[in-house]
Parts: sequence; C-alpha cells; structure tokens
Amino acid sequence: MTARDDNIHKLESYLQRFRDTGIKNRIGGADTDGSAGVFQSTSPVDKSVICDVAEGNAADIDKAANAAHDAFADWRDLPALERKKILIRIAEGIEARAEEIALCECWDTGQAYKFMSKAALRGAENFRYFADQVVQARDGQHLQSPTLMNITTRVPIGPVGVITPWNTPFMLSTWKIAPALAAGCTVVHKPAEASPLTARLLVEIAEEAGLPPGVLNTVNGFGEEAGKALCEHPKIKAIAFVGESRTGSLITKQGADTLKRNHLELGGKNPVIVFDDADLDRALDAAIFMIYSINGERCTSSSRLLIQDTIREEFEAKLIERVNRIKVGHPLDPATEIGPLVTEVHFNKVTSYFDIAKQDGATVAAGGEVVGEEGYFVRPTLFTQATNQMRIAQEEIFGPVLTSIPFSTEEEALQIANDIPYGLTGYVWTNDLTRALRFTNKLEAGMIWVNSENVRHLPTPFGGVKASGIGRDGGDWSFEFYMEQKHIGFATGQHKITKLGAN
Ligand code: NAD
Repeated sequence: MTARDDNIHKLESYLQRFRDTGIKNRIGGADTDGSAGVFQSTSPVDKSVICDVAEGNAADIDKAANAAHDAFADWRDLPALERKKILIRIAEGIEARAEEIALCECWDTGQAYKFMSKAALRGAENFRYFADQVVQARDGQHLQSPTLMNITTRVPIGPVGVITPWNTPFMLSTWKIAPALAAGCTVVHKPAEASPLTARLLVEIAEEAGLPPGVLNTVNGFGEEAGKALCEHPKIKAIAFVGESRTGSLITKQGADTLKRNHLELGGKNPVIVFDDADLDRALDAAIFMIYSINGERCTSSSRLLIQDTIREEFEAKLIERVNRIKVGHPLDPATEIGPLVTEVHFNKVTSYFDIAKQDGATVAAGGEVVGEEGYFVRPTLFTQATNQMRIAQEEIFGPVLTSIPFSTEEEALQIANDIPYGLTGYVWTNDLTRALRFTNKLEAGMIWVNSENVRHLPTPFGGVKASGIGRDGGDWSFEFYMEQKHIGFATGQHKITKLGAN
C-alpha cells in the first residue's frame, strides 16, 4: 500500500462517524441540531459530499451565547492552575489525534498533508504556550502616587465570539480560542462554512480534556446569518475575527450597536523584495515557499515579488523552473505540495485572474491553467512583466499565484511595496544592514522578516496595518484583547478632599 492509499484508508475510518451522524452544533456541552436545518460539506478533492452539517442561525447563536454567559463566572473563577491543567490536557488531546485532525483538514480544505500534519501540531503548541501564561495573565502594576497606592489588575472581558476562515482552520481556531480560554473567557466559535470538520474535533477534544460544558460552544452556519448574529449578540463582549478585509468591515458595523470590541486579522498582498546583494538561493527558496505552500491560501503569503532589475532575468528563470516542478496532486499523498483550492467559488475566483493577467498585459510565465476536472486543482502560477497598478498586483488572489514586478532603486522598491491597500507582512532580502534598517523602518506592514520567510515565534505580535487588520495576537498582546484593565486606588487617608456645600 502506498503512503497515499494508507492515508485514504485511515481517512475513511475517521470520516465514517461524520457520515453516520453529520456534524451537530455543540452548545452547553450537548449536541444540538441547527435551527435552519442542514447544509452539506463537500471535498474539493473530488467534489463529493462529506456529510451534513447543522445550519445554525440567530436562535442557535442566542442559545450558545447564553451557555457561554452562564459558564463564564465559574470558568473565570477557577484557580489559574486548574485552568492551566485543562489547557495542557487539550494540547495532549490534540497531539493524540493529530493524524485524524490533519487528514480531515486535508479532505475538507484541499490542503496538502505535508503542511497540515504540522499545522495540527501547531494547534497543540498554541494551547501549551497560552497554558504557560495563565498564572501571570491577571497580574498588574503598582503605581504609587503621593496619596494613593494604585494597582492594576486584568480581568477576562466575558464571553467572546471567535469567527474563523477556511484556510488552515484548525490551527487558526486554536490561535484564538487558546488565549481566550487562558484569559478566563468563554467562547462561541463560528467556524467557516467551507471547513467545519476540525472545529468539531476541537470541541470534542476540549470537553474530553475536562473543559466544563458551555465554556467552548461551536455553532456552524453561514456568515451572513450565524456570524452576523454572533457580532450583534449583547452577551458577547468581543469578536476575534480572521477573514477577508471586506468582512472585517461588516464585523465592525454589526458590532456597533452593542459596542463590541473587535480584533480583525484580514487580507494581505504582501511583498517579498529581493535586492541584488541578497543570498539569492535562499531568497528563491523562501519566496517560493511563502506563496506556493498551503496552496497560496495564506494571509501572509508573499504574493508580490519585487525583484531588482539587475537580477530579474536570472532570478525569474530559476523561479519558472522550480514552479513548474512543484507537485500538484492528491492532498493525502505525502509528496504533494499543492492540493485543490477549497471551493468552487474560490477556484473560479483564482482562475479568473489567469485571463485578467493577460488582459492587463502581463505574461503568464508558468501555470495559468487548471488540472483535471475531478476537483479544484490549478497549476502553480507565475505572472511576470507586471506593474503594480495591475489587478494581479493589487488584489488578494489567495491562491498559488505570484506576481513579479521589477524595480531599479531602493526608493522605487519602497514606493511599490507601500502602494497597496494592505499591510500585513513584508519580506526583505538584502545583505546590506543599513539598507535593511532604512527599508524596514519605512515599509508599511505589521510584520517584517529580513532574509527569512515567515517564521512564527508565539511571543511576538502578529497582525496587520491598513486594510490587513486591527489588533495583535501573540504573547501578552492576546491577553490585552481578551481582558480588561482595572485600576484600583487605595488612599492613605491624608489627602485633602475638596469640600462642597460645607460653608
Ligand atoms: P471570509 O471573510 O469570507 O470568512 C471568514 C469567516 O467570516 C467565515 O466563518 C464566514 O462565515 C464569516 N463571515 C462571513 N460574513 C460574515 C458576516 N457578515 N458576519 C460575521 N461573520 C461573517 O474569509 P475566508 O474567505 O473564509 O478566508 C480567507 C480570508 O481570510 C483571506 O482574505 C485571508 O487573507 C484572510 N486571513 C487572514 C489572516 C490574518 O491573520 N490576517 C489569517 C488567515 C486568513
């Protein structure tokens, strides 16, 4: 049996329970049907139906928000070390079921097993990391004034909503849910409708690890119904959202009446800038990795290559050769580097840019075509001879599609890099230290790597500027979102209190 067949065989056994019962919502520790009926989850690999999924609407969100509200005080007041133990047990549960999570994620989203096996374990790491911070999360400061001893403390904000997208959905969900639980918040999770499988596994693992009922609730459904109702619910105090920039704007509007606190992690059209003094072999590897791994369905992907004109020809020639050798195939084959795109809608969006590129006058130097008819497969694609004004340079395609734009000077590279509505990440390749300092100082992005691809370190801040988002995750920044600062001033009893009506 090949490794691929072995994975397919294992997947079949994991999927059987979903086929038998469908995916229910999980509210207050109980399985519940969706008030709006069911919708079907399909696999992008062969367009087959995986299972029915409970379709939640405002009524289900209301139940879940109430369950999260009712569970909040006990979870908040549980001693930190007890909450820590549960979070660690969740991490262990994820590790124990990492293969199941990875295989289900691949089938649900089309992501290659090569990357999803690591993403599942990253989910466990997120729980372990925030478990380690639980004890200190509420610590504050002591700020002495002449007549008052001022102290600050942090308290969890209350029940929160977590709304996640379909790209690496398991890992992204843990990245939001782990710090929320560590802070002492309860959660209503609305996973992306295109990828419901692993959200179900997460809530099961969490409850098996001892998470009390109602602390994590999962309501499936569509964004315009269930997602909107979550943003509007008065008992939900904050929304942690990951998704498209235009949805982020809707989230803000929907939460206005209830004065919701929102954390928005949105789209990107990130530049990788390669100067001619860089280590070009490493720059090539990193540029390829950051746009063609995870199907290019990755907010931090380096989707714009800004290449110095002195090295453009040679660099693009090597790029074309490598891109043409990237293995497109069945996501459960461990050798596959690119699987199918997540849905028909997304496939149509990505492939529409093949014509847009030609109409705009760019060259399709590699790819630019679909593969087979069975699923939503496309060839990794490279557009060259592009300018930054073209749609292929300005719009987030969110697929394995790279747009190469030449520049001649550092000033021009900076101008092109910043001439975009987005500002999530930037990747700068140069061996000139002072240029790297100058450039990163002016580059408009929330996260920048010099001579590196995106290497995530959990204590560092993650988030974007401009249309790429508001707020930061990671380290203590996560707690700043899920917690409120409280100040208490203790008077020494000697300061003068201004007397009114005393004369
Ligand atoms: P999307 O915005 O379409 O959907 C994301 C989630 O929002 C889904 O659960 C969806 O049901 C829900 N939703 C949709 N409309 C809603 C509404 N009106 N109210 C409440 N919820 C609503 O995004 P997507 O297509 O699933 O994901 C891809 C996008 O996510 C890309 O733009 C990508 O860049 C972005 N993303 C950003 C980051 C980051 O960290 N900045 C990480 C991953 C993905």
